[in-house]
Amino acid sequence: MRKCLALIFLLPLFLLGAADFDCVVIGTSPISMLEAISRAFSGEKVLLLDQAAEAGGAWKSIRACDISHVDMGCHQLVGSTPEVKAFLEKYVGCKMVPMEKPFEMWNGHSEYYFSRGCYELIHNLEKIIAKTPIVYLLNHSVDTVFMQGGTLTVEAQGKRYTTHRIITVPSSFFNLEGILPKRTAPQPSFNSSQKKR
Ligand SMILES: Cc1cc2nc3c(=O)[nH]c(=O)nc-3n(C[C@H](O)[C@H](O)[C@H](O)COP(=O)(O)OP(=O)(O)OC[C@H]3O[C@@H](n4cnc5c(N)ncnc54)[C@H](O)[C@@H]3O)c2cc1C
Repeated sequence: MRKCLALIFLLPLFLLGAADFDCVVIGTSPISMLEAISRAFSGEKVLLLDQAAEAGGAWKSIRACDISHVDMGCHQLVGSTPEVKAFLEKYVGCKMVPMEKPFEMWNGHSEYYFSRGCYELIHNLEKIIAKTPIVYLLNHSVDTVFMQGGTLTVEAQGKRYTTHRIITVPSSFFNLEGILPKRTAPQPSFNSSQKKR
């Protein structure tokens, strides 16, 4: 009887240990990269992947008019309080500079930005990731996620990775087979009352 009870309690632990990764992070916007780093520092085995060739999500920089690392779109660090500035300087190694005329929508809490634009943030986060055991895969689109044998299985580029936890963001799209109906990209909508005006 005791042996049976021990088996019942140990079986989930055995199953938990059977996955390739403790956590799979889908997407590489700064928040996803920081999440992956934080988990790796806590000792978790992390897989970080993105379908894009370059990291950053909406914070990716581009080459424009022969100039490298141009911010894609207009960026401002929402909530860049002195504490956020100190964190980014101390832990991410960014040089933060005051903004001369921050867009005032966020009540004056957007006062600092990266001296070399968002490239500086993404590049520095990639340097930190390179020093961790995180398995970091760009050009890897997650097509499907499904449950198998008590673990989650992530399918990307024809390969399968098992994990106990998946961290994703609202703008990531993939098929949740047997878990939820397929998530599809939301269609752009507009307010019809605004249209009439
Ligand atoms: C031009 C622009 C400017 C912005 N400026 C600001 C700003 O100044 N301040 C601010 O706070 N916010 C800004 N935002 C909002 C921005 O969306 C957020 O700051 C943040 O990037 C959102 O992060 P996210 O991870 O949710 O999505 P995203 O940044 O969109 O990242 C999602 C990532 O997931 C990847 N992905 C999606 N599906 C899959 C899949 N199936 N498999 C693998 N990878 C996948 C994508 O390739 C992408 O890299 C801006 C957005 C845009 C578009």
